[in-house]
Parts: sequence; structure tokens; C-alpha cells
Amino acid sequence: MDNELTKNHFKPFEQMTFDYTMCFLCGELLNDEIRTDEHVYPRWLQNKFDLRDKKLTLLNGSLIPYRKLTIPCCVRCNKIMGETLEKPIERAVSIGYDSFIKLDEKIIFKWLNKLSYGILYKELSLKNKISEPQSDSIYSKESLKKHEIQFTFLQSIIHDVNYIEEPWSILIFKIESSFTPQYWAYDNPFYKTFFIKMNDIGIIAHLMDNGCQKGLFMEHEEMKEFLYRELHPIQYFELCAKIFYKSILFNKNPFYTVSWFEEKLNTIVSHSVSGEVFDKWSQEEYAHILKFFLYDYCGIEFQDIYKGDNLIMTYLRNEDGSFKDCIGILYNKNMK
Ligand SMILES: [Zn+2]
Repeated sequence: MDNELTKNHFKPFEQMTFDYTMCFLCGELLNDEIRTDEHVYPRWLQNKFDLRDKKLTLLNGSLIPYRKLTIPCCVRCNKIMGETLEKPIERAVSIGYDSFIKLDEKIIFKWLNKLSYGILYKELSLKNKISEPQSDSIYSKESLKKHEIQFTFLQSIIHDVNYIEEPWSILIFKIESSFTPQYWAYDNPFYKTFFIKMNDIGIIAHLMDNGCQKGLFMEHEEMKEFLYRELHPIQYFELCAKIFYKSILFNKNPFYTVSWFEEKLNTIVSHSVSGEVFDKWSQEEYAHILKFFLYDYCGIEFQDIYKGDNLIMTYLRNEDGSFKDCIGILYNKNMK
């Protein structure tokens, strides 16, 4: 980033200011007239999927109800987000996959990035001593610096930004709508991944890999096929596990050039990532990740997933390579 050009702009990562005195997005000091609470998970989503009193586990282990997951925002930014992000996303979700797939990916990216950053902001506001050197490594100043660019992406909500090449990978799957759960989400801000299922829409996103995961996915016909199939939820969770593990193995720090024009964020260039982008895949390690994604759904254990000798179970394909029919696998909602 060009520090000369950005020095007059709100930079929460400089002072580690994640408190409730200013707007999380534009940095404006809040008074009673302009202060609003922005729901990280928007109210329409909470109402639609009955999430208000359901609890979300933060990375520090604390539980917080969705309705209390709010961050400070000014009236102006709140209005812009409502009109440019929440309205089109809500509308598309209410119609379903066929409408959602037609949305501009930039809107989906901004929305997911806002959710991901909002959770991070909340985590940081709850952590009192984030700037102390002995504090947890995941909250260290050094590791948080990597999130500065995420904040810059967020600015594209209030500035009209031209993205040259996309910083994100977004894959949208169609899921059989009759199967529960209708809503499910998993976010890990430290791997910049976001997974969310809303009715028949299953989204898998990496918010900062400059298109690597999507590129790789589209190169493989046997993977690409899943974009054109109607998936059982368990197949979607298996794809989530694959892409999450790949995100853990992603070993590059993508590079961006950001330019401002007349005090406004103008262009973000995502530079392509090359070379050995991923560390070596281990079937055994992957099996642990797959168990993490599948256990809540059907209570499957590691030993059922991994049989040794790199043999791993899959719900995606039969032994002859054909698409697997998972219709008999039901959601066990008694599982924790
Ligand atoms: Zn604002």
C-alpha cells in the first residue's frame, strides 16, 4: 500500500482502535445523533433463519447471541450498506440459488468481507490488551497487520472502487432445498475463509487469495462438475472441508497495489500469485478437517473417515467415479 497516499485516512490498525467511539467503516466520531449499531449478521438474516437468540462461538471461546453481535457505525455508512449490500443479497436469498447466482460477485464479496471483518472487530473490541506483546499470538500486532488489507477492501463499500483482477475466490453451489439445516455458517478470519449456506445456496469463499482457489477448482473438470449439480448438504460440507484445508496450506501473502484519487480510494490491483502456492497435502491431516466439518451433521468419527494408507471416505463420488447419491443421509440435529 502507498503510505503517502493513505496517511490522512482512517487507519484502525495503526492505533489498534477497535472501540465503540467511532464508525468501524469510515472512522467518524460518533455522537447520539449519528450513532447506529450495525448488526454484523444483518437483522433480515437473523429473522429469516431464526438466529436472534442462537449463539456464535468467538475465537476466544466466548459465546455471543447473534442479536448482540453489533459494531459501531454512523448513519451514513449504515444506509449505504443497507442499500448497496443488504437489499440485493436479501432479495436474492429470498428467491433462491437461481437469483443469487446472477448477483454481481463484487456485492457478494463486499458482504462476506463485512461479515468477516465485523466478527474480527467484535473479537478485537472484547480483547482488552491486544497491543501487549505477551498477548495471544493470534491477536498480536504482527498478525493483525495482515488484516489491514481486509479493511482496505471494506472501504470499497463507501468508495467507488475499481478492482483490477479479483482478490477473492467465490464458489456458489446449488443445494437440495429439502434438507436441513437451512442455515449454516463457518467463518475463520485468520484463514480469510467464509462458508455460508442459506436455503439452497451454498457459498464457499476465500476473501484474500487473489483467485487462486477458484482458478484451481475450475481447472479440474471433476471438481467443476459440482458447480452444475444439485448437492446434498453433506457434499457441500465436504467441499468446504477441501477448500478450508487448502486455505490452511496456502503459503503466499498476496500482493496488492492500492491507489487513491482526490481523497477517495480509487483502484485495487490484485497481483497474481505464482510458484508453489500450497504446502503439501496430507490425507491424514485433511481427514481431521473433514471430521470437523461433517461431525455436526452426522456425528461421523475420524476412524470412519480415515482408513490409513491415504484412504479416505468421500460423499462426492462412487468408486467408479460417478456422482454419489446421498439421499439417505439425514441431518442428526441432536449432535452437538
Ligand atoms: Zn461511517
